[in-house]
Amino acid sequence: MDDDWICSRLGEDEPWVLGAVNPPVYENSVFTFETAEELGEAIKNEDERYVYWRGTNPTVDLAQRKLAALERGERAKCFGSGMGAISATISSLVSAGDHVLVLGAVYGPTTQFLRYLEKFGVTHTHVEDLAQCDSAIRGSTRLLYFESPSYMAYQVVDIAGITAWAREHGLVTVMDNTWSTPLFQKPLTMGVDLVVHSLSKYIGGHSDLVGGVVVGSARLVRPLALTEYQLYGAAMSPHDAAKVIKGLRTLPVRMAAHQERGLAVAAFLNDHPGVRAVNHPGLPSHPGHAIALRQMSGFSSLFSVELDTESREKVSAFLDKLRHFRIGVSWGGFESLVNAPALTTEESVRATMGIPVGLVRLSVGLEPADTLIKDLGLALEGLVA
Ligand code: PLP
Repeated sequence: MDDDWICSRLGEDEPWVLGAVNPPVYENSVFTFETAEELGEAIKNEDERYVYWRGTNPTVDLAQRKLAALERGERAKCFGSGMGAISATISSLVSAGDHVLVLGAVYGPTTQFLRYLEKFGVTHTHVEDLAQCDSAIRGSTRLLYFESPSYMAYQVVDIAGITAWAREHGLVTVMDNTWSTPLFQKPLTMGVDLVVHSLSKYIGGHSDLVGGVVVGSARLVRPLALTEYQLYGAAMSPHDAAKVIKGLRTLPVRMAAHQERGLAVAAFLNDHPGVRAVNHPGLPSHPGHAIALRQMSGFSSLFSVELDTESREKVSAFLDKLRHFRIGVSWGGFESLVNAPALTTEESVRATMGIPVGLVRLSVGLEPADTLIKDLGLALEGLVA
């Protein structure tokens, strides 16, 4: 199935859509039945039948069908946030006494959630590569969790290599694919068991939505849809599902523009004397570039750079001088954003985590690349002078 068609049309020719170019938003907390027996039957299959919005909703279902098809998975379940999807997914796969391997840098709150699970007897170990996986694996290890490219550092994991290893050791693999979107990378086709996304980034695309999704086999998604989705209550609303559906319509053209602009900005910074390093896997100088070309069909526009300074004040001044990049968290929207982890992290934590003082994260939006390059060039002038 063609990704462009999935984004714009899949599931929209059904009778309930009535030919509307924007499918109806089912604003119903509750669905009713002719008989008590019918209700009973529906409750038994609540991941497929419409009973109550905290479980299922037709508009949310349509978004799920599209996301499952894009990731080449059997089933998808949308959540009220990316963290809702991540916490429910991890919880569904572990029990007291189990151990989780975390490969490479992952989104901070994901690590926080794994620390939170310690009070229920679930432990985890962070490892950097396959060799470390070999020494850190225990009899109780159930799950391998990772992102590729990795969080903030944008290092590339050899997905087929790591999933083959995990399979050999009987581990379930979960990968956060938010950075690439399913258009540029399809981890399920490389052996990953479950893929999670924050829909709040490129897929939503307009910074007006917080949502998440997990995609994979029906065997793994169905139990978590019936249990953790229902019990934690991080349900996606039909209004947000409608925004996901709208975001998907323009995702292919937006991602092409993000890729082009992101690479132009990254190449400019790579040649700038005020910049020590550019962590963008699309640059030929990136250590993971060859693997990235093998497993990805494109590059999004979120990356980090290390400014040539050890001064927090200079990093702060650099951010303040930018006019087109706005200072803020999150990424993947139409607007360019900038953030410096050293300025928002306690010094002791920053040093332990090995975050360079000069690390700056850029989310390149849809503004013209030359406008953004000019903006960065002017802000860097003060830094290198
Ligand atoms: N995964 C990654 C890589 C993220 O950057 C984020 C949020 O920034 C999340 C997951 C969590 O998503 P949400 O903010 O939708 O809960």
